[in-house]
Amino acid sequence: MIPHAKPLLGKEEEDRVLEVLRSGMLAAGSYVQEFEEQFKSYHDCRYAIATSSGTTALHVSLAALGIGAGDKVITTPFSFIATANAILFTGATPVFVDIDPVSYNLSPTQLHSALQDNPEVKAILVVHLFGLPADMDEILELAAKYQVPVLEDCAQAHGATYRGRKVGTFGKAAAFSFYPTKNITSGEGGMVLTNDPAVEEKVRLLVNHGQRQRYHHDLVGYNFRMTNIHAAIGLEQLKKLDLYNQRRIDNAKFYNNNIVNSQVEKPACLPDKEHVYHQYTLKVKDRDAFAAYLANNHIGYGIHYPLIIPAQPAYRNIPGCLGTWQVAADLANTCISIPVHPALAPNDLTTIVEVINTFR
Ligand SMILES: *Cc1c(COP(=O)(O)O)cnc(C)c1O
Repeated sequence: MIPHAKPLLGKEEEDRVLEVLRSGMLAAGSYVQEFEEQFKSYHDCRYAIATSSGTTALHVSLAALGIGAGDKVITTPFSFIATANAILFTGATPVFVDIDPVSYNLSPTQLHSALQDNPEVKAILVVHLFGLPADMDEILELAAKYQVPVLEDCAQAHGATYRGRKVGTFGKAAAFSFYPTKNITSGEGGMVLTNDPAVEEKVRLLVNHGQRQRYHHDLVGYNFRMTNIHAAIGLEQLKKLDLYNQRRIDNAKFYNNNIVNSQVEKPACLPDKEHVYHQYTLKVKDRDAFAAYLANNHIGYGIHYPLIIPAQPAYRNIPGCLGTWQVAADLANTCISIPVHPALAPNDLTTIVEVINTFR
């Protein structure tokens, strides 16, 4: 079986984790700070705050912007559910805006009408889905026009660039995830990036019980801290991010050049956007048959995502979930992601191409 995802961990990560275990500094510790330092300098950004997950990073980013009960936040219906859940956690409600049929990211045209229709919107939460940067120029222009801050969900797009600039540096704040299937991992973990000192301060308080000084609590915060053990892994993984991304890009290029089957639609390559292929997602009309065929041929796959967020049972009673998001809904019925991770061997790639090209 060729697995659909596989974290690549080496002796460097093992050694660092052992160091932490032997030091006894399991929770707070120097590796958390060092991971933050390295992460912000990788992005040429002023502040980075480590968190316990991508979900908590999203949650505190929204909260730090003052998003709360009664507010509306625009986002995509086609993402991992954590994107929209983070909005709900603050007490706000998501306004789902359909995606672009080529990029699968938030459609600027649809965003424009949503901003016109919802003057009370307090933020736009953009996702760089599958590792492909969203249309940031168009989105930032609309955000400026309507004076709404932009937040970036970069959980799938570590190191991706838009017109040469890394994602996570465009909005008021950005959230990253280091879950094991992502482009780099810390086990569980996340990071908030921002250039705004007020946002940084608020995020730091929120992730640590609202505590500025020990046992003095300025606000009701959370325990969303990253541990030193997780940071030790993340720190070593960050050094390998560019290499891992290059392997993902090379694997995707091989698929782009070699997958030929009229039943299968490949992901778009778009100018000005460097895709880091968290997922290599195909569109196949008869997805059930294709998925069974891959499984029979021992090729792992993933369905990202079988349901759009507003159609999830958990969202049954959430206001604003009865609309139609046709582009996203069609994609949910046809998408299937094949292995593209950096642990694939050359013969895995040729096997996968041969199998896909002979699907009838
Ligand atoms: C993985 C992911 C998250 C959540 O990250 P966790 O670390 O699993 O909490 C949020 N948004 C998107 C788009 C993701 O892919």
